[in-house]
Amino acid sequence: MPHVYLGLGSNLGDGNGRLNRALDLLREQVGEVLAVSDYVQSEPWGFRSEHIFTNAVCLMQTTLTPWQLLDQTQAIERQMGRTHKHAPGESYTDRIIDIDILLYDDVVIQSEQLTLPHPYIEQRDFVKFPLQQCRERARQRGLLK
Ligand code: ADP
Ligand code: MG
Repeated sequence: MPHVYLGLGSNLGDGNGRLNRALDLLREQVGEVLAVSDYVQSEPWGFRSEHIFTNAVCLMQTTLTPWQLLDQTQAIERQMGRTHKHAPGESYTDRIIDIDILLYDDVVIQSEQLTLPHPYIEQRDFVKFPLQQCRERARQRGLLK
């Protein structure tokens, strides 16, 4: 079954609670969660806001295709109350929940709607380090080669 790494972020309300809720919905609607990083706090990236982010990365197994996964993660964002999507060229804004697909096995897709691997993994410490930690946890449990 495909392995996917998702980046989760929230900077409105109770960050830990939002990420917990997102993980519950992902378990119900996407598949098994194999590992989760620690939750980290980070400054807003690419825009100014007084609201600090809570971020984490999870590893999941899913039978959804990359495009189905994009639809489903966006549906979960809406279920949690996110209304505004970021359009190309527009600046970033505060968000109740953001779910980004970081990696989907070794699939490569280059389109505006879906870019895989996610283009900013290396630039964003709040993605890069939780991703390493999540992968290491999965490996320690014998879930990865
Ligand atoms: P951002 O994540 O950049 O803050 P949004 O969550 O509003 O902003 O997403 C903007 C658009 O990015 C989405 O509508 C989605 O189609 C597109 N997108 C491209 N690649 C990905 C990806 N790997 N994961 C999630 N969304 C992606
Ligand atoms: Mg996003």
